Amino acid sequence: MTDGIRDLIIIGSGPAGYTAGLYSARAMLKPLMFAGYMSGGQLMLTSDVENFPGYPSGVTGPEMMMHLREQAERFGLEVEDKNVESVDFSGRPFKVVVEGETFLSHSIVICTGAEAIWLGVEGEDAQKGRGISTCATCDGAFFKDEEVLVIGGGDSAMEEATFLTRFASKVTILHRRDTWRASKVMLDRARTHEKIEIRPFRQVVEWLSDDSGLTGAVLEDPRDGSREEISSTGAFIAIGHKPITAFLEGQVETDEEGYILHKEHSMTSVAGVFAAGDVVDTRYRQAITAAGMGCQAAMDAERWLEDNQH
Ligand code: NAP
Repeated sequence: MTDGIRDLIIIGSGPAGYTAGLYSARAMLKPLMFAGYMSGGQLMLTSDVENFPGYPSGVTGPEMMMHLREQAERFGLEVEDKNVESVDFSGRPFKVVVEGETFLSHSIVICTGAEAIWLGVEGEDAQKGRGISTCATCDGAFFKDEEVLVIGGGDSAMEEATFLTRFASKVTILHRRDTWRASKVMLDRARTHEKIEIRPFRQVVEWLSDDSGLTGAVLEDPRDGSREEISSTGAFIAIGHKPITAFLEGQVETDEEGYILHKEHSMTSVAGVFAAGDVVDTRYRQAITAAGMGCQAAMDAERWLEDNQH
């Protein structure tokens, strides 16, 4: 850091952020990370991770994030568990505003990841946190011996449903068609579980509730528009995620959905600003791919700083 200007600020934590932190700290860039109030990203909401190399018996998401953070901090990554409110990339050094304070940096790595998408149907807002959730790991235990719904046909839905069988007496997966984005292994695990029922061609069009909370949903068959009601006191929406890029206010180029676009390797449309992990990834979205991208962004930032004599 010279004249109060950092070499590198990392915005966001998770596997991409911590790996960028590890590499840049080992490269002596003395990085500062704004990890967010909920540091660790989506892995903090994940139960068992079985597909991250190096953990032969699996590991929980929060445990893995703790390991990544500890490893990066050992080499000098400074972490502040605060949210970035806004940025100004219109001139150098770049400005990052956190709780009203402005931080300056020669380079930036953005690793803010993605967040759950809601269905957005009638009755949803009123029941968020009162029966409808996007996180089984967080809220599953509230539904002991109850019958719950899971919405979606991807790996997240299968994972949530399988996890919920620890508590719920029955889990019904509702999917809007009969082909699946879920991987075969996770779909089979759900299909063969005695507590899980899978119902294809069922789209939730309305949530039903009374004073006690959620009571069920109105389902529509997209093939013919026919409707039916299903009773349930708990529902978990697992229909995908959207990138967390609103705080950038359009200062780096994104696609229509808000995913940051890479221009040259991991560099964004702004020279000196790099991005890694789910905030750029519309395809893989794995912890291991995010970590790999975090490494790339840190190495690219280091080279860019060298080339630009910072
Ligand atoms: P995803 O694969 O994009 O699946 C989203 C699902 O939600 C799809 O079945 C989609 O239906 C459905 N959907 C989307 N919008 C909907 C709407 N408005 N109404 C009803 N259904 C809707 O998302 P994901 O399951 O979150 O997985 C994302 C990535 O993370 C994947 O790469 C996955 O492999 C990975 N992941 C891995 C693990 C693991 O390995 N442990 C766990 C979780 C996630 P359609 O198919 O009809 O579009």
